[in-house]
Amino acid sequence: MVPLFDPKPQHERVAGEVEAASRAVMESGQFILGPNVQAFEKEVADYHGVNDSIGVASGTDALHLALLAAGVMPGDEVITSPFSFIAGVEAIYYCGAVPVFADIREDTMNMDESSLEGLVTERTRAIMPVHIFGLSCDMHQVMSVARHHGLKVIEDCAQAFGARIDGQPVGSFGDAGCFSFFPTKNLGGYGDGGQVTTNDAELAARIRMLRNHGSEQRYYHDVIGFNSRLDELQAAALRIKLRHLDEFNAARRYIAGRYLEGLSGLDLKLPVEGEGYHHVYGQFTIQVKDRDAFRAALNERGIASAIYYPIPLHRQKVTEGRFRGVRLPVCDAVSETCVSLPMFPGMSDAQADEVIAAVRAVV
Ligand SMILES: *Cc1c(COP(=O)(O)O)cnc(C)c1O
Repeated sequence: MVPLFDPKPQHERVAGEVEAASRAVMESGQFILGPNVQAFEKEVADYHGVNDSIGVASGTDALHLALLAAGVMPGDEVITSPFSFIAGVEAIYYCGAVPVFADIREDTMNMDESSLEGLVTERTRAIMPVHIFGLSCDMHQVMSVARHHGLKVIEDCAQAFGARIDGQPVGSFGDAGCFSFFPTKNLGGYGDGGQVTTNDAELAARIRMLRNHGSEQRYYHDVIGFNSRLDELQAAALRIKLRHLDEFNAARRYIAGRYLEGLSGLDLKLPVEGEGYHHVYGQFTIQVKDRDAFRAALNERGIASAIYYPIPLHRQKVTEGRFRGVRLPVCDAVSETCVSLPMFPGMSDAQADEVIAAVRAVV
């Protein structure tokens, strides 16, 4: 069986270093907001060429705290993609705000940047672009709409650590970039974790307070905050994995290249990577016609696959009713044809070729 994702090759690459670093943390006795979190925050900021970054407990919390710190308030509208994981929409609702969904583009599966202008109202406070599957949205277009209307931009970079446009990494375009270290992500930890990148010193200070019970100085609480800290063990491991991240992303891009070549000329849609874009393939997602039959046939040949995402966010039970009149035809269509193939650093050429042969046999 070729699995969808396998964390073991990555672990084997860093196991010795991670074990030594974890032991050092355990022996230090300092587990919360210690030297590893501090160093990792600087390293993540440097990686992105931004002034600061803040470690938090998850990607979901990164989005929530970034929206709060950016001033998103009850009644505000946040424009985002309906074709994503639920976390961004949860974060919007945590703030008492409401999502406004832009339809997506069929080729990139990102929200259609050219539709944003038409969705702005006087209640719009922010845009939350999601760099889906590891491909950046057109951030120049997003930023131009945002600047024109004075909106904040909170990038959901959970699937795209290391993705770039003309060399500039996602998470460095908007007011804040939000990352997840869930184990399957491009920079995966050994548990949950998240991070916010920003050039805005005030925003960074607010997120630092919010993640730590609303306090800057211990036992002086200025606002109602949260317990949402990245822990030292995760930070110690992530510091090591960050040094290997470009290598891991190159491995994903190598597999993607093999797929793109091996699957060309078939009756299916392959992922695109526009001029100047650097895709990091958090997922390798194609679009096929008879998806259920396609997946069953792959499964018979020992190839795992997954559907991200079968139910768009405007059709989820949790949002039902609120979006009944909303028409998002491209998103609805893509949610019925999308299917993700195995993708992980350390996947062998033989495994990739097995996937290619199976897809060619069944499509
Ligand atoms: C994984 C993910 C998140 C949430 O990250 P967690 O660390 O699991 O909370 C948010 N947005 C997207 C697009 C994701 O894929």
